[in-house]
Formats: sequence, C-alpha cells, structure tokens
Amino acid sequence: MAYCRRCGAPISDGATTCPSCGAYQNNTPYVEDNGGFGWGLLGCCIPVVGLVLFLVWKDQKPRTAKAAGIGALVSVIIGILWYLLVAIVGVGAALL
Ligand SMILES: [Zn+2]
Repeated sequence: MAYCRRCGAPISDGATTCPSCGAYQNNTPYVEDNGGFGWGLLGCCIPVVGLVLFLVWKDQKPRTAKAAGIGALVSVIIGILWYLLVAIVGVGAALL
C-alpha cells in the first residue's frame, strides 16, 4: 500500500494518479524523472525555456523540473555577474 504524495490518501502500488485528488504520483516508473543534466544545460542556454519547463513539470517531474529551473537560475546569475563585470570594467576604463 502506498499513499498519495499530495493528500495522503491510500492508493494501490503502481497507481499513476491518486483516486482521491487526482495528483500524479511521481514515484511511479511511468514518468521519467531523472533530473537530467541535459535539461539543466538547456535551461542554462535558454533560461525562458528552463523556467517554462520548471513550471510545467514541477508536479509531475520535480527532479527534472528542478534541474531545468536551476539551469535557468544559473544562467540568469551568470548573466547578472557578466553585466556587473562589464559595467565595472567599463567604469574603470572610463576613469583611466
Ligand atoms: Zn491525493
């Protein structure tokens, strides 16, 4: 016997959805959720896609969604750091 990850109702082993609330049971083998590095890389290259994948998958594939979300976040942080670096170098060059 397993229990629903959302509402805690008892459900049969291997059930893909909860009969009580309809939530996906992400411990089933039917949904591939391996937190793939590729999705993180995609999110890093195209942050908007990473964000969308995160929002779409956060219930069904939390690990993969997290990978894509972290990739997008890393990309945004790197972008901000790069912008700051360019700004600092630009100000430094202007002062010289
Ligand atoms: Zn449920």
